[in-house]
Amino acid sequence: MDKNHLTMTNQITLIHLDVPMTEPFRISSGEVRSKAAVLIHIECDGLSAFGETSPMSGSFYSEDTPESAWDFLSDYAVPQFIRSRFWQPDFVFQKWMDNAGNRFAWAGLEGAWWDLRAQAEDKAFTQLLGVKPAPIPSGLAVGIYPTIADLLQACSRYLPAGYKRLKIKIQPGWDVEPLRAIRRVYGDFPLMVDANAAYTEKDIPHLQRLDEFGLLMIEQPLEEDDLQGHQRLQSCMAAPICLDESASSPAILLQAIQMQACRIVNIKIQRVGGIERAKAMIELCAASGVPVWMGTMPELGIGALHALYLALHPNCRYPTDVEASSRWYEEDIIDPPLEVNAGWIEIPTAHKKRPNVNLARVDKYTIRTANWKF
Ligand code: MG
Repeated sequence: MDKNHLTMTNQITLIHLDVPMTEPFRISSGEVRSKAAVLIHIECDGLSAFGETSPMSGSFYSEDTPESAWDFLSDYAVPQFIRSRFWQPDFVFQKWMDNAGNRFAWAGLEGAWWDLRAQAEDKAFTQLLGVKPAPIPSGLAVGIYPTIADLLQACSRYLPAGYKRLKIKIQPGWDVEPLRAIRRVYGDFPLMVDANAAYTEKDIPHLQRLDEFGLLMIEQPLEEDDLQGHQRLQSCMAAPICLDESASSPAILLQAIQMQACRIVNIKIQRVGGIERAKAMIELCAASGVPVWMGTMPELGIGALHALYLALHPNCRYPTDVEASSRWYEEDIIDPPLEVNAGWIEIPTAHKKRPNVNLARVDKYTIRTANWKF
């Protein structure tokens, strides 16, 4: 990027969005009814790059919220990023970022920086990541519903798109019966559960009962910091344990793998603080023979595409949680939206190099902005 080009406005804009969802998303710890995200828009020397910060509203997945990410980005990270002259070719995001927290905010800023880099070097994300474009298997995730009839109705609404596996959210009191109902209707279709840390070690005898359903995996059954509990549960369950919330950094992930607290890992760019760290964690797992897959918050299209580019890594060996745009949103902010055909997502040509953002739709759902010129 040529910093001597003085005729264009160089600026970073934060854009807080609120996008209507097709249905509320309910997990063991809370519910969201619309999708909030903070976009980071970098305009530098005629290039226009986007990243997405996508914590859940209400802080029930992690302590990060759209509001906390906004405050951190505007009070600290964006001004620092500009002061550190991120447009210089020798700028290394990972060396510069502070690893202490605010990982969702870092992930959004880093995503925008990758996009800028891709354009400046005229390379596709896939080239920068060293992966080859190919169709990606997609899995359906459904939340917690008031009744089993509602759950089965949701499955019947979305499964015809051919999703490659089904994941249901569980919590104490909502596990055995919903699983039995699903097995009755869908036979031996690949099925997994996600508890979002809703159980404790006291529930281990109960969780062992879930083995009767032949699950592909059980995702984050116990609390985030309870690696020993996961180890104990894994030693007495046939279903592989997949860590999500617990796998917050490369060091903790390595510890979990060495302890045999999991056999599979859900990698989320947002949770771990960016594409680079997510890739490092995928490779750390590969070196230990642990397969992974790409999870979602879910994000809007920009974050979803970043996850899809990484899902092309050969150690991503299970279907991704990235679904069709229409699964969660009436309108996505990328053009064209993502589609699932016979269970596969083919990255549309318009997004092959980088996400193609629909600016009019971003405008439509903007609730506030902040801007820094540099
Ligand atoms: Mg999860």
